Amino acid sequence: MTTGTKLEPAPAAKPATKAAPSDGKPAGGHTSLFETVIRQFNKACDLINLDPNTRRILAKPTNEISVNFPVKMDDGRVEVFTGYRVQHNSARGPFKGGLRFHPSVDIDEVRALAAWMTWKTAIADIPFGGAKGGIQIDPAKYSKRELERITRRFTFALGDNIGPEYDIPAPDVNTNAQIMAWILDTYLSTMPPHTRQGYGHVVTGKPLVSGGSQGRDKATGQGVVYLLEEWARDQKKPLSEISYFVQGFGNVGSWTARILKPFGSKLLAVEDHTGAIFDEGGLDADEVADFARHHGGIKGYPKAKPVDHDTFLSTKADIFIPAALENQITARTAPMLNVKLVAEGGNGPTDWDGDGILQQRGIQLMPDILCNSGGVVVSYFEWLQNKRSEFWDLEEVDHKLKKRMTAAYRSVRDTAAQHKTDWRTAAYIVALNRLETVYKERGIFP
Ligand code: GLU
Repeated sequence: MTTGTKLEPAPAAKPATKAAPSDGKPAGGHTSLFETVIRQFNKACDLINLDPNTRRILAKPTNEISVNFPVKMDDGRVEVFTGYRVQHNSARGPFKGGLRFHPSVDIDEVRALAAWMTWKTAIADIPFGGAKGGIQIDPAKYSKRELERITRRFTFALGDNIGPEYDIPAPDVNTNAQIMAWILDTYLSTMPPHTRQGYGHVVTGKPLVSGGSQGRDKATGQGVVYLLEEWARDQKKPLSEISYFVQGFGNVGSWTARILKPFGSKLLAVEDHTGAIFDEGGLDADEVADFARHHGGIKGYPKAKPVDHDTFLSTKADIFIPAALENQITARTAPMLNVKLVAEGGNGPTDWDGDGILQQRGIQLMPDILCNSGGVVVSYFEWLQNKRSEFWDLEEVDHKLKKRMTAAYRSVRDTAAQHKTDWRTAAYIVALNRLETVYKERGIFP
């Protein structure tokens, strides 16, 4: 999950001041990601006549934190970085969501991703709200030691804006268990020594020995596969007869493909930031993942033929799994797709126009806020294990994850049927109904 030279271009890095305001109106010429969220949100609100007070509250993030912080580089220079944490909503529980390190990170992107987390945790029915954060940075340009100092200084700059019962970060694009371990260590180091043992759940997605959970690494991909099992059952077609292709071969894309392999589903094509490959006979997900790990990408994989981006998108298959960056399925690319289902492994791969075209063309879409929720569900399990000083085995984690993914799938599917609407809107409806109930019960202070 890195920048797309071959993928649809990532949104260009923009100064925070140019970002769209919270009412979703684009400020510059670019498409605002938060505007997409607001359009999706409005469609669902209109359909269910959401309480206007709840609607006004949910249309804006609760808090937006932006920090500029200096970090010493290996050569002695000091660079100043910009980091964000947007806390969209905490009505259902502590703010929760990942941190990404990417040049496209800006306030508008983080705002959108934070709102999606609020809907995601509500659909998965875990007691969290939604947040997201990140640093506008290309991590490939820095040494490991520099990345450690950047991560630690960002954590220090966030200070009390994160906390185990308040706002709990996790991995996202270009961040991993190692980065979570540095965040944990930095956060604990700023706390009085006698309290530190109680704060291990300030981040999730930690390495196992530092309080991580079994199954967290593969959780998003595992969640996608549990959902696809349900979908295949509804189609009355076994996964063994299903063909698919994947965009992005990072955590989500590669785990999804590797977990699908034993089912016998055929992986026809893969694209990442280095290029795209295709093999009619089917690619071996483990081998491709291995190759990508050793070569920094899939380009040059010997057992497949290279294809260009548009040919890749036109692959005829049952399922397309976009698991890279935002805005990949657009007015330009949606007409090229030749599949029955788009399963959004990444966040925001389909823009508003792309969504409309998929619907017109009768291509079903499993929305991000349902499809990739396995990660945050296992984050919740990790958080619970930390609080209870427990360690669950992989079987237990997977079993509990499957139960939640299946329940979420069925509630979205049934809501779509009930309201005769698309699955994205149905997923919003599930989330909004749960949030509306909380606001109705609790009221507004004072
Ligand atoms: N970054 C992941 C997501 O977008 C996981 C978030 C979490 O575990 O808190 O859902």
